[in-house]
Amino acid sequence: MARQPAAAAAGPRLGHSVVPTFESIRLVLDPAKPDYTGTVHIDLSVRETTGSFVFHARDITIARLKLSSKTGDVAAGHAAEGDELRITPGRPLEPGPYTLDIDFSSDFNNQGAGLYRMQVDGSWYSFTQFEAADARGAFPCWDEPEFKNPFQVTLVVPKDHLAIGNTPIESERVEGDQKTVAFERTPPLPTYLLAIATGPLETVALRGMSVPGRVVTVRGSAGLAQEAARVTPVLVAALEKYFGIPYPYHKLDVLAVPEFWAGAMENAAAITFKDSVLLIDPGAISVDQRRGLVLVTAHELAHMWFGDLVTMQWWDDLWLNESFASWMGDRIADQEFPEFKAELAQVLSMQTAMTTDAHLSTRAMRQPVEGVENLDQLADELTYDKGQAVLMMFERWLGPQTFRKGVVDYLKAHRWGNATAADLSRSLSKAAGKDVGGPMATFLDQPGVPLVRAEILPGGRVRLSQQRFLNYGTKTPRPVTWQIPVILKYSNGRTTRTLTLMLADASRTVTLDGSSHVAWLHPNAGESGYYRWQVAPQMLSALADAAPKALGARERIGYLGNLSALLDAGPVKGDDYLRLLGRFASDPEPEVVQAVLGGLAKVKRAFVVAGVKDEFVAYVRSTLSPALERIGRKRAESEDPSVSSLRPDLLWWLGEEGRDESVLGDAERMARAGLAEPTSIDPTIADVAAQLAALRGDMALFKQYRDRFEKARVPAERERYLVALGSFRKPEVVDAALAYSLDGPLRPQELLSIAHSIAGAPEYRQLAWDWMTTNFKTISGRVPPNYGIDLVQFADGCSTDLLDSARAFFSIPEHDLPGVSTELAKVADDVHDCVALRQREQPAVAAFLHRQAAVAGSPDPPATMTGSGQLYR
Ligand SMILES: [Zn+2]
Repeated sequence: MARQPAAAAAGPRLGHSVVPTFESIRLVLDPAKPDYTGTVHIDLSVRETTGSFVFHARDITIARLKLSSKTGDVAAGHAAEGDELRITPGRPLEPGPYTLDIDFSSDFNNQGAGLYRMQVDGSWYSFTQFEAADARGAFPCWDEPEFKNPFQVTLVVPKDHLAIGNTPIESERVEGDQKTVAFERTPPLPTYLLAIATGPLETVALRGMSVPGRVVTVRGSAGLAQEAARVTPVLVAALEKYFGIPYPYHKLDVLAVPEFWAGAMENAAAITFKDSVLLIDPGAISVDQRRGLVLVTAHELAHMWFGDLVTMQWWDDLWLNESFASWMGDRIADQEFPEFKAELAQVLSMQTAMTTDAHLSTRAMRQPVEGVENLDQLADELTYDKGQAVLMMFERWLGPQTFRKGVVDYLKAHRWGNATAADLSRSLSKAAGKDVGGPMATFLDQPGVPLVRAEILPGGRVRLSQQRFLNYGTKTPRPVTWQIPVILKYSNGRTTRTLTLMLADASRTVTLDGSSHVAWLHPNAGESGYYRWQVAPQMLSALADAAPKALGARERIGYLGNLSALLDAGPVKGDDYLRLLGRFASDPEPEVVQAVLGGLAKVKRAFVVAGVKDEFVAYVRSTLSPALERIGRKRAESEDPSVSSLRPDLLWWLGEEGRDESVLGDAERMARAGLAEPTSIDPTIADVAAQLAALRGDMALFKQYRDRFEKARVPAERERYLVALGSFRKPEVVDAALAYSLDGPLRPQELLSIAHSIAGAPEYRQLAWDWMTTNFKTISGRVPPNYGIDLVQFADGCSTDLLDSARAFFSIPEHDLPGVSTELAKVADDVHDCVALRQREQPAVAAFLHRQAAVAGSPDPPATMTGSGQLYR
């Protein structure tokens, strides 16, 4: 069935005249067959006299439909209306209880959405992914989050299949080749949190929790579940402690799903994960895998309380659902697994959100959502990362204990029900004894990010002012102000102090405590506020001087993000940006060096054109080689996990951009060793070795990778070779790789991986675009439906050529997938800003790179910001 669920999902919300109070669902699922049958029984409450009513059922064939009242059957007609089914009784329904019984049949989905089937090693499985609006494609239901009711699910499956739902099994009966599995009635749930999994599944017990639990895998993969089994109970216990509310459900299953478009999904008590997140080969664990497992699991488990126990009323509060889970997840992960430094990664993700917010095409985080057409679009960096940053900022302002009190009050007041952001604001205000909702609303309801300027005045005074932060040449449509909890960090040269204040007006002057002389001042202490900041050039310079000793790691990462933003906005010049960036490459904190790599990626995209390519190569080498020397090429037994994470990124930069012969040679040797014997190489650099070897690799290597990709039993190995298949650069291999994307046994979520990697090489951008447009129909019919917006990404870059093609291409009605037009506006802003930045700053960058190249071979001269004079124009 070729369809775009999200597209058809737009429409007005369901009415409240007729609402469900309970639904039982019985499905006969044999995923070896393309279709299935089912029945639903729904208890209805008719609240007012009603001529007709609608609910959701998409592409479902109705075999029988019976509406009954207490006194008997009610004659009623039914007709499909898009995603909905309209029931029209012979005469209006009077208020009271009714029941609805429907027999139906439908096809399994094949694109990893809704109720879908998939095959692994010859065995068939069925899984579900319902958020946001795909339960309606599986069975008739009221598919909106506010209809939160108990469900009772019964599955009839082949007798050797395991069946999993949201609750423990109540009864199981085998008859012939079939098994009927009835699950306990659920507590009230919205449809998007229901889950089903069937097939020859295996389980591993989760021990030490307040309820029984399992890791669930496809056949043959249970041996990869140990790390998940170790981590999950620790996180559950920590969350129970924070919330002061026991884990809300009677069991917990975490499922590893091979075909899955998201990272994970918080179905109540049946959390699904992309298999590569949950399953780890105990003989080859990399730091990044462990970190990913901990962070994603913490996020999903936080949803069991925030999202599942208390559910958003409507999708306009999706941001609250997601940002809270991200905030809570990172907090708990940091507490239980501090070695993964979630709080530092958060500063980096916050930069991404602020970068989006610097465009006029950005949106308010909380905005009216009419239908759910653009819901997948809403699940972006603003929903997750901006929301998380805003919550952190207000937690910092209120203090962690007060904030927690408000959160717990909110959960207890609305448990098993629905709530809105206003309800959370009320609980927080109650706990704090002051208005929290007002200040928070300035961040939630207004688009964009504020810029806080700090100007030092005589006598230890500081004048703070705010305006909307926008990139160069963009004017704010109207003046806006935020109510910003600002924390200043400053020093008189001897003592460092902080000052917390609320900046609610356009400007405000404050007196710093105990400092008539200000040596330096950082306007965003702990980088804990969601705002950009600007100080005078000399002060920016003083901060860089003070950075290694006086600024924390979060502040140093934030400094670089802020510097990059000031480059986009105009005040910082290109050459000064590069000079400062390089200076932070010697930072002892690996996460700060990661931020430097992010800066280099920006430089590469915007400035590295013919004439400076060799010079950029030299700059990359002189900047990053010392960092690699410092941490060493080989992993030390006792080293910090963030060091192990940085090493592959440095190797990639030095090999790919720096063309470092010894790095490339090493990688090629390791990749060959890894092909011969996977356990022979350090798992933390196995991925990068395979990718670097591909850069100069030929068709023979491509075929070896392809073979390993297809035979991989461990998800990480499959992913390793999938990514590496997109890293080849010889033209004939690139052609073969693109063809393989469609001819090979790739899963729906894997289909664009190779092409996106290839598009990342500027010389192949056009080729990747042509591949996408030529095969558009095939691609859009096979990738998960919400991946449509990813196709727009092929037009991204630092030139407008493909943008024009993209506008023309996506304006054709059959190419206009849900969310595409919004995504196109976002990409267009990105491209135009990059083009403008290149025009403005490329000459300065080129001159800088040429000067550096002139002293190539000798160590980078100590960079100073005062040396060449002006940091600002
Ligand atoms: Zn989430």
